[in-house]
Amino acid sequence: MAYPIYLFNSLTRKIEKFTPLEDNLVRIYTCGPTVYNFAHIGNLRSFLFADLLQRVLKVVGKYKVQWVMNITNIDDKTIRDSSPGSTAWLPEMGRQVPDPLKRLIKFTEYYRKKFIEDIRKVGINLRDFYRMPKATDYIPQMQELVRKIVEKGFGYIVNGSVYFDVSKWRQHDLYGKLYHIDFEKFKEGSRIDADSYDKEEFSDFALWKARKEGEPYWEFVLNGINCSGRPGWHLECSVMEREILGLPFDIHTGGVDLKFPHHEDEIAQSKAGYGVEPTVFWCHNEFLLVDGQKMSKSLGNYYTLRDLIDRGVDPLDFRYLVFSAHYSTQLNFTFQALASARKARFRIQNYIYSLFESYGVEDKSAKIKELRDKIFSDLGYDLQTPKALATLFEFINENPPKEFSQNSSKELLKLFGDLNKIFNVWTIEPKPEEKLFIPEDVKKLAELRFEARKNKNFSEADRLREEIKQKGFQVVDTKEGYQILPIEE
Ligand code: AMP
Ligand code: ZN
Repeated sequence: MAYPIYLFNSLTRKIEKFTPLEDNLVRIYTCGPTVYNFAHIGNLRSFLFADLLQRVLKVVGKYKVQWVMNITNIDDKTIRDSSPGSTAWLPEMGRQVPDPLKRLIKFTEYYRKKFIEDIRKVGINLRDFYRMPKATDYIPQMQELVRKIVEKGFGYIVNGSVYFDVSKWRQHDLYGKLYHIDFEKFKEGSRIDADSYDKEEFSDFALWKARKEGEPYWEFVLNGINCSGRPGWHLECSVMEREILGLPFDIHTGGVDLKFPHHEDEIAQSKAGYGVEPTVFWCHNEFLLVDGQKMSKSLGNYYTLRDLIDRGVDPLDFRYLVFSAHYSTQLNFTFQALASARKARFRIQNYIYSLFESYGVEDKSAKIKELRDKIFSDLGYDLQTPKALATLFEFINENPPKEFSQNSSKELLKLFGDLNKIFNVWTIEPKPEEKLFIPEDVKKLAELRFEARKNKNFSEADRLREEIKQKGFQVVDTKEGYQILPIEE
């Protein structure tokens, strides 16, 4: 049974009922990583949010999903950090090749692969992605969009770079739908080249940047002018989402910091060039904080997943921690919070184990149905994971599984199985066998028997075998020596 889905739309600032544009299919675009370094766990929160969303749409809404996440492999940072002498170039990447584009690809491919390893570890399945496009594979289409924007009069060329004319666009359409922009600060005709900039620096932004010595570039002639160079970051997403999903698609996700300028600029570009809004729903996750501050590479206050693993953390505990807070609230990361997440995760895991061992008579069907309805409705209503987990704990506390009938246990295991298609942090299996405990005296007797056999003292060996048997164990001779096993009843 499908449950309704509601989502907070940053565009309308309201929770709205979600229905896909096309039949039963949901098309989602997630702004992916900029692959110039290892992703930090704040970045991972934003990809876990998108993962949660696509899983809820599938499991709770019963939709089909096409999930696209791009790889930003060309922008200011990837160029900066792949350049000669950069400390981000690690020895295991091999030699720094002279050709700037080849060098950029070699550098970004290394971090792209590391990124894939990281997202798998936090429970994101690669098969859930419809595509993971790289920006450098869409350059001709990007040039095409620049051309269109200029043709329509919303772009202009300065020294081989192409800029978006914000004041002209504002006479035509709204700019600043997602984010409150103070237009008093806007200086007409002022331009910014940086891919990321603050609202204080708000000006015309670069669609395409003229070639700089030593940087990767693509040939491009526009209106008879040599504009050889490379795309701006915002343009990349406008193009990839249209090429792969078509416009408009259903949902666009990213962290709150991307509302401006990245997503505002994306909307302006797509509308100016293609004449269509890129998406219906804009969904943004809040930040992961550390010591009350945004975790970010520029502040240097960040952990990568590798840092956590080095400290013995199970990445699935991090996944659980992220889902223990609502995506729209800030989450302060501490190791204590991570330990609590682990405890809570295992409390549920142990409950699941015990469901395999209940042989009572209690029929819990009605309660389980109620539980499913409540949890799935809460997940469907703007992905309320904390509420869903609270409901689950309440049930667990009030319903020890020992007395459940086998049928009820099966029903509940089915519900946990479905929940795990979303949370993906548990195993729905009986508890693995404890490692066999063999007492020290049995080990000693087995060793003595082995020696006796080696010395061809078979009567002593048989006597020792009998003594071991009295203690509930048997010795089986193997090629390598012997093995001690418990005696089966
Ligand atoms: P980047 O690799 O810098 O392009 O960022 C990838 C994603 O991570 C974007 O959606 C950002 O909004 C998001 N992001 C960056 N820092 C944080 C943070 N501290 N908490 C949550 N999301 C973040
Ligand atoms: Zn993007």
